[in-house]
Amino acid sequence: MRLSDVGEFGLIEMVTRNIKPGAGVILGIGDDAALYAIPEGSWQMVTTDTLVEDVHFSLEYTTWRDLGWKALAVNVSDIAAMGGRPLYAVIGLCLPSDSDIVSVQELYAGLGEAAEAFGVSLIGGDTVRGPAVVLNITVLGAVEANRAVYRSGARSGDLVMVTGTLGDPAAGLFLLQNPDYDTGSEGERRLKQAHLRPEPRVEAARRISAAGGVTAMLDVSDGLSSDIAHICRDSEVGVLIRGDHIPLSDALRDLASRLGRDPLGWALHGGEDYELLFTIDVEQADRTREALAGSGIGCAVIGEVSPKEDGNRIVYQGSVKTLPPGGFNHFRMSGK
Ligand code: ADP
Ligand code: MG
Repeated sequence: MRLSDVGEFGLIEMVTRNIKPGAGVILGIGDDAALYAIPEGSWQMVTTDTLVEDVHFSLEYTTWRDLGWKALAVNVSDIAAMGGRPLYAVIGLCLPSDSDIVSVQELYAGLGEAAEAFGVSLIGGDTVRGPAVVLNITVLGAVEANRAVYRSGARSGDLVMVTGTLGDPAAGLFLLQNPDYDTGSEGERRLKQAHLRPEPRVEAARRISAAGGVTAMLDVSDGLSSDIAHICRDSEVGVLIRGDHIPLSDALRDLASRLGRDPLGWALHGGEDYELLFTIDVEQADRTREALAGSGIGCAVIGEVSPKEDGNRIVYQGSVKTLPPGGFNHFRMSGK
C-alpha cells in the first residue's frame, strides 16, 4: 500500500493510532494544537533538526526504523547537552506519494522506541507530500531555572572532558558506505550500530550538571575538532587537547589497524558521536567522575582550557600543532 492509496488523513490515522499521551500531555494528537504541562520552576527548552534524504541520511543503508530512532535521538541530545530533560516532540514529515505505508509505520516504530527510551511523548506533527523524504523534528524540554549549561562559560585552567568514546559512528558510517571493508565482526557491527542508533547522554548530562563545577557543555555532533572550537569561540578561550588521552573503543582501534589508518582521524573529525564534551573546574573533576560512574558512562580528561591568545592546539605523539575546526590534513579521512 502506498501513501497515494490512503491519503494524508489515512496515513496520519495509521501511524498515530498507537501513540498514547504520556505524562504531562494535556491534549495530544488530534486537535488543532497540542497542550502540555511543564514542571514548575523550570525553563522551557526547544530544539529542532531537519533531516533530508541523501543529504543527512541514505535509505540505502539506513532502515526506516533506525531513521526514526536517530531523528528523535539527535534532538534529544541537544536538550541533554544543556542539562535538560526532553519531554515532548512534534514531527513534520514530507513524503513522496509513492512511499510505502509499511516504511512509514517502521519510521514511527523507531520514533516510538526512542520516545520510550528517552521519556518523550509525541504530541503532534504535520504530513505533506513532496519530492523526497524530509523529516523535521522539534523536541520540547525543560531544565531547572538557572541550571542550564551553556557553551560560553569555559575559563582558562578548566579541564576538558568527554563522555564515552569518540569516532565509532564515523567509522561505522565508513563501513556502511564501503561494505567491502566489512568482515562482519562483532566490533564492526558495534561501530555501525553507533552510527545508526546513537544514544543521547541525557542522564549523564543531568549528573554532570548536578555535580557542579561544569562551566560549558555541548554534544559532539560535528566532530571534536569543530565542537571544541564552538566552546572556545563562545567562551573566548583557547584549548590544548591531548590526542593520546582521547578515548577510543577497541573496535575502532581494530578497524583502524586493519586499514592502516590513524583512528584519531575518526575521533577528531568524524562527528555524530553525541557524546558530551564539557569543561570543568579542576577542583570538581573528581566529583563529576564519581557522579558519572553511577550511570555506567565513562569519561576522560582530554585536555585543558588555555588563554584565548594560545589558540586551539593539539599535542599528539610529542608535537604540538594547531587544531582548526575540521582538523588538519594529517588526520583528514579520505572521502570526507
Ligand atoms: P491541521 O489541518 O489542523 O494542521 P492536521 O490534519 O495536519 O491538522 O493534523 C491533525 C492532527 O494530527 C494534529 O493533531 C497533528 O498534530 C497530527 N499530525 C499530523 N501529521 C502528523 C504526523 N506526521 N505525526 C504525528 N502527528 C501528526
Ligand atoms: Mg497540518
